[in-house]
Amino acid sequence: MLQELNLNTVCQHAACPNVAECFARGTATFMLMGSVCTRRCRFCNVAQAIPQPLDPTEGERIAEAARRLGLRYVVLTSVTRDDLPDGGAGHWAAVIRTIRARFTELAVEALIPDLSDLSDVLAAGPCVLAHNIETVPRLYPMVRPQADYQRSLDVLARAKRIRPDVVTKSAILVGLGETEDEVLEALADLRQVGCDRVVLGQYLRPTREHLPVVEFVTPEQFDRFAEQARQMGFSWALAAPLARSSYHAAEAGP
Ligand code: SF4
Repeated sequence: MLQELNLNTVCQHAACPNVAECFARGTATFMLMGSVCTRRCRFCNVAQAIPQPLDPTEGERIAEAARRLGLRYVVLTSVTRDDLPDGGAGHWAAVIRTIRARFTELAVEALIPDLSDLSDVLAAGPCVLAHNIETVPRLYPMVRPQADYQRSLDVLARAKRIRPDVVTKSAILVGLGETEDEVLEALADLRQVGCDRVVLGQYLRPTREHLPVVEFVTPEQFDRFAEQARQMGFSWALAAPLARSSYHAAEAGP
């Protein structure tokens, strides 16, 4: 069906370890604006290349996939499009509007890149606005050389300022060389900007071209991170080796 509708999923392009489980349950995270990214984060399996023009039929095709799968909750994400003047904000808003116009009861979680203008995307009506910080600030130059920790925090802060009623969410991959204290500081930074939900998962090296795994964090440490996140005030915290930002997202609800 994904091939027939010419849809990309981050499940496949990011080599997610949960792809079999999620596809078997009939869920997928649709990846907007093409299959290649203008950035090259060194943990990410999405290819870097010159992107194709945006496809205005993308919203209709995702709506059709949601209809065939009988989804009540859909998670959208996208590559980063630094080549576009608005980073793709207009396209994001149009896709969400198209899907919600077709299925008014369908909840949409939007896992966006670090867009500079969020108003249109938030006006389109996502129930959850997610943006992943991915790692701790000290590791940004190595792990996400074209991204900026403060800019990512600012995305979440602006989303809360514009639409306090929309749930915000972020995710961190551990095992890249960060310390426990640095993870706790990053969680505190997220709470500082009003982030409501958080996911922590183990970094797994997609290929030999990607950063090596520095540490395999124990399940007990993940349990401690989840507990500490709840104590900090996150309304929902998922921390487990194979947890990823959209893993079981529908269970947390709109
Ligand atoms: S911006 Fe997102 S999709 Fe692009 S390389 Fe980084 S993590 Fe992967």
